[in-house]
Amino acid sequence: MSIADCFRGLKELRERNWQEPQFVASEIDAVIITHAHIDHTGWLPRLVKLGFTGQVTTSRATGDLLKILLPDSARLQEEEADYRNRHDLTSHTPALPLYDEDDARAALQLLRPVPNDGQPYEICGGVTASFMVAGHIMGASLVLVEMANARDDGSSIKFLFSGDLGHYDQPIVNDPATPPDCDYLMCESTYGNRLHGDIDSETQMANIINDAAKRNAPILIPAFAVGRTRKCCT
Ligand SMILES: [Zn+2]
Repeated sequence: MSIADCFRGLKELRERNWQEPQFVASEIDAVIITHAHIDHTGWLPRLVKLGFTGQVTTSRATGDLLKILLPDSARLQEEEADYRNRHDLTSHTPALPLYDEDDARAALQLLRPVPNDGQPYEICGGVTASFMVAGHIMGASLVLVEMANARDDGSSIKFLFSGDLGHYDQPIVNDPATPPDCDYLMCESTYGNRLHGDIDSETQMANIINDAAKRNAPILIPAFAVGRTRKCCT
């Protein structure tokens, strides 16, 4: 969830990754991750570097993806820092990666994968989390967090975190689960300003390829690796 988010994109956003957080990392009991995309997980090695030592609970597939993504993210940052230093392209001397591969591997040591079967798993004292398929990428989960005895009358409070949500009838990823009953819903809004088109993605793709073939034109497909390339135009 948001604690492990990594700011991406514009320089002023990326610089936030370097700011001192407004919490003490060593005082955080646990981290829960909805899915592996770096904008949701890329800050985890930094959090560990700052002193977090608790468990990182997530689905099994997300754990498997993170074993690839976090060291890769670290390597890219190390390469970029090295490039900037060698070509004198930095106002910080020397340019540094936000974290290195050793930090990424230290973060992976804290992973605690659980099935996304809707069953509650203990996170820390009195708090459980249940993971259900969100249909976004492999392992992406809706997470229902329940705090026991949270109210004066002894009843619990249920928070539902949507993470990024997928749509129905995709060829690889299962359909998103029906959201369970909850007291509070935190809904991811990354794509909240966009609607799916009327034409399905296979037809869109076929139209582009047929048009390019008719004109004998090349096709360039920019894509980010996790999720987008399992099927173009998702
Ligand atoms: Zn995502």
